[in-house]
Amino acid sequence: MQSPGEAGARPPVSDPAYPAQMAARSGRLDELDARLIRCRACPRLVAWREQAGATRRAAFRDWEYWAKPVPGCGPSDAALAVVGLAPAAHGANRTGRMFTGDASGDFLFAALHAVGLASQAEATHRGDGLELYGVRITAPVHCAPPQNRPTPGERSTCRPWLAKELELLGPSLKAVVVLGAFGWQALLPVLGDAGWQLPRPRPSFGHGVHLTLAGAGGGRPLHVLGSYHPSQRNTFTGKLTSTMLVDLLSRAASLAGLGGRG
Ligand code: SF4
Repeated sequence: MQSPGEAGARPPVSDPAYPAQMAARSGRLDELDARLIRCRACPRLVAWREQAGATRRAAFRDWEYWAKPVPGCGPSDAALAVVGLAPAAHGANRTGRMFTGDASGDFLFAALHAVGLASQAEATHRGDGLELYGVRITAPVHCAPPQNRPTPGERSTCRPWLAKELELLGPSLKAVVVLGAFGWQALLPVLGDAGWQLPRPRPSFGHGVHLTLAGAGGGRPLHVLGSYHPSQRNTFTGKLTSTMLVDLLSRAASLAGLGGRG
């Protein structure tokens, strides 16, 4: 994983240059993930993720929190990516796997299972046997932020990790589902950096919005679909129902050539 001489050249894990330099050196997703989980480039988020792990929520007091950057999960040749915003302090920051261990994840994995993209409807911890079929779940910010709101600077610092992840998925990637307006705002610049051509002005987020982005040099297009985030605020109020999410994921799966439920 580490090339000869790399140790002397790489920036410290707390250096803002660490994500860009280490992402650039990663030729495989497993290399990228191994470097990502050492990252400490955002002091505010490092403090928050570790504080959550040290204090713990009462219901999880017996847990050893992950309390590190959470890598994407799913196969390295995924045709579909599902992109949220950032791990939740007592969800993925606890379990170490995206969307695993909180109500948003319960809603999402049940829908993925209904569409045939996940082996089971429940995701509780990294060893629970869950398999994802043709889909990778990731985020533009890999550490839990206070109030679930990373700053623009933190989004920018973390951007190289997702840009590289999408580049490495590139040969197989055909569609992306973006969960929520904040994820949409964070993802579009990453797709632009990765070579896909963004319409101007940039389209606004909405549930069901569908963009077809041309690849650089006439490369294969990428379908980008917006979905309301499966937050409790949205699911408890009925703004996002199970049927809405299943329908949207099914449409995305079909666009990605995964069949989908419908
Ligand atoms: Fe590193 Fe991203 Fe976490 Fe910042 S948010 S410390 S760049 S992994």
